Amino acid sequence: MFDHPSYDRHEGVHFFEDADSGLRAIIAVHSTALGPAAGGCRMWQYETGEHALRDALRLSQGMSFKNAMAGLPLGGGKAVIWGNSKTDKSEALFKAFGRAIDTLNGAYYTAEDVGVDTDDMAVVSTQTKFVAGLDKGEAASGDPSPITAQGVYRGIKASAQRAFGSDDLSGRTIAVQGVGSVGGYLCDHLAKEGAKLFVCDIDEEELAKVCQRTGATRIKTDDIYDVDAEIFSPNALGAIINKTTLPRLKAKVVAGGANNQLASPEMDSALKEAGILYAPDYVINGGGIINVAAEISGAYSRDWVMSKLDVLIDTLGEVLDDALSQDLPTNVVAERIARQRISAAKGG
Ligand code: NAD
Repeated sequence: MFDHPSYDRHEGVHFFEDADSGLRAIIAVHSTALGPAAGGCRMWQYETGEHALRDALRLSQGMSFKNAMAGLPLGGGKAVIWGNSKTDKSEALFKAFGRAIDTLNGAYYTAEDVGVDTDDMAVVSTQTKFVAGLDKGEAASGDPSPITAQGVYRGIKASAQRAFGSDDLSGRTIAVQGVGSVGGYLCDHLAKEGAKLFVCDIDEEELAKVCQRTGATRIKTDDIYDVDAEIFSPNALGAIINKTTLPRLKAKVVAGGANNQLASPEMDSALKEAGILYAPDYVINGGGIINVAAEISGAYSRDWVMSKLDVLIDTLGEVLDDALSQDLPTNVVAERIARQRISAAKGG
């Protein structure tokens, strides 16, 4: 573990197995310097346990940076459940997951991520109070995706302002990869402003719905990187900016909600060299965790969420401006700020 390439001095990495329900989960707590670690739970059919571990390590580190950049009193953590979200879900499985979280005594708060929804979180909440993203209850904030999508939409505008000299998206060509919860709401915002959308998804049903709603052009999943679009917005899974896909992109901006978009850290410099402005994923997609943080605080306030979102978009603008003026990759600038904030909280 200590030699794992994605290990970044994580405070704790916890493995859980429950034979009765079939649960196999990893909860990675990257840092609790700023507060309890918070980050969603992903359910995915990983090829191997090693893939699941890598995802948990990288995603939890990303959550530390994300929470720090959003100015939240939260550290970074993430849970992954190894399984097929369409066929392996059961009440017993999410109850076992809830018990697993409870053993950490509040070091980690969970919520939804890919493959996991508010119904699943409701089951988790029967076993532990360290859960957010609930539909019901006094401070319930519900599905965080609409707020994430709103932040991504505003982040795309902020990026367009820097790349094209205008944040007006009407008539801009935008390729959107993934039209699930975040991507779907994002397409609604973009279409409303008059952007010309090209969309793909492996889920044909969702794709058809979004195309009908927004007038978007459907693209085969493998062809999305070749679309002649000014902006590429990834909203599915990670590692999609890599040595194979980058040379295919025609866009001048990469800005989307997906976590861990860069396959490796050096892809940030590669994007810069290719003349592409990259909105760091853990900054632009922080809206959802702001919503979750409001719930964790115990007194959900929509005004508080919106004011935090305003600050987040300003922070993204500062990252982009500093990167452009200092001729640095955007991720380098964002990570520097995030690590400074975490280190300051540790008193170091
Ligand atoms: P989701 O499961 O609702 O949507 C993901 C979509 O991507 C699905 O429709 C799926 O079919 C599609 N997809 C999967 N593989 C694909 C491929 N190869 N090509 C095209 N489409 C593919 O998940 P979501 O909540 O919308 O999250 C999307 C991304 O945003 C994830 O990376 C997630 O970690 C990140 N994110 C989500 C939130 C949130 O509030 N939900 C917050 C921050 C970050």
